[in-house]
Amino acid sequence: MEKVLVTGGAGFIGSHLCDLLIAKGFFVYCLDNLLTGKRGNIKSLESNPNFKFMNVDLIKNRIDIPEVNYIFHLASPASPADFKNLSEEIALVNSLGTLNLLKLAVDKKAKFLMASTSEVYGDPEEHPQKESYRGNVNSFGPRSCYDESKRFAETLVYIYRKKFNLDARLIRIFNTYGPRMRKNDGRVVSNFINQAILERPLTVYGNGEQTRSFCFVSDMVTGIFKAMFSKGTEGEIFNLGNPEEYKMIDLANKIKKMTESNSKITYSDLPEDDPSRRCPDILKAKEILNWEPKVKMDEGLQKTIEYYRSI
Ligand code: NAD
Ligand code: UDP
Repeated sequence: MEKVLVTGGAGFIGSHLCDLLIAKGFFVYCLDNLLTGKRGNIKSLESNPNFKFMNVDLIKNRIDIPEVNYIFHLASPASPADFKNLSEEIALVNSLGTLNLLKLAVDKKAKFLMASTSEVYGDPEEHPQKESYRGNVNSFGPRSCYDESKRFAETLVYIYRKKFNLDARLIRIFNTYGPRMRKNDGRVVSNFINQAILERPLTVYGNGEQTRSFCFVSDMVTGIFKAMFSKGTEGEIFNLGNPEEYKMIDLANKIKKMTESNSKITYSDLPEDDPSRRCPDILKAKEILNWEPKVKMDEGLQKTIEYYRSI
């Protein structure tokens, strides 16, 4: 049986990826220090003999695994709300943590996938963003701990491919949402839905004209799986996301309507360096991975609303 390691496996996206890999017949090592993830996300897997949870901090600990064929590196807090309090943890898990894992991959001759982010494009001046776009990133600001450490992680992957012939690929994940996103995560979809359910004001930052494109988590993990296992992915970078673009004010109104909420909408300052537009060009993923998102925004939001109502 082939063995995979998922770092950040008790997190939002990581736990859905573990579900998928177990369903596909792999043995799954799920590594997480539970900084922003939780055991509850993997509760249904813990009794499975093909699943092993390891409470390990990638920054501090040696990773003790006898054999592994594929490594998916997803460990890193991802919400801008965490960029202030977890800045050092974020910078280090993407730098030192990635280095530790790359060494493990070389040692075990495992194939490697690095979960990077659309944040490597910063506040993009090219629209939509293609993988070839080099970005517009601030190295000295509130988002730098995340943006620059992900960029550095990409560089480490480049170095390890060249130096050790490591079989590796990068994915750049765009805004993803769905069940198991922390309720108090601070990201826009979880904020708006929970505010609407509780009849509290929906907190739009800035004038709400800024855009994002949202991918439902089941589509995302299918894309991540294909980026590892499809032919022709070695050494490549793939944008993974849903190219349907929304203004934040329109998202707020949509969620208000879907939850039948009487909440007001309030406006406050736009956070520093908040990107004004973001939308992936996914042509490369379509062509090489034969992948594109299938879940419509209304369907994905409905499932997410039901999840938050249930917890
Ligand atoms: P998440 O916070 O739910 O998951 C991250 C997981 O990593 C958590 O379970 C956390 O406990 C774990 N972790 C953090 N530091 C660790 C360490 N030092 N050692 C071991 N485990 C550690 O976030 P998510 O949204 O599921 O994001 C997963 C990955 O996807 C991240 O790498 C993130 O950068 C990337 N990503 C996510 C999005 C998104 O919209 N959700 C967008 C772009 C990129
Ligand atoms: N945002 C908002 N209200 C909130 C949370 C976020 O208007 O309660 C905005 C935020 O300023 C950004 C967009 O929604 O423009 C997406 O923010 P999120 O934190 O979800 O992710 P980002 O794409 O910025 O990493």
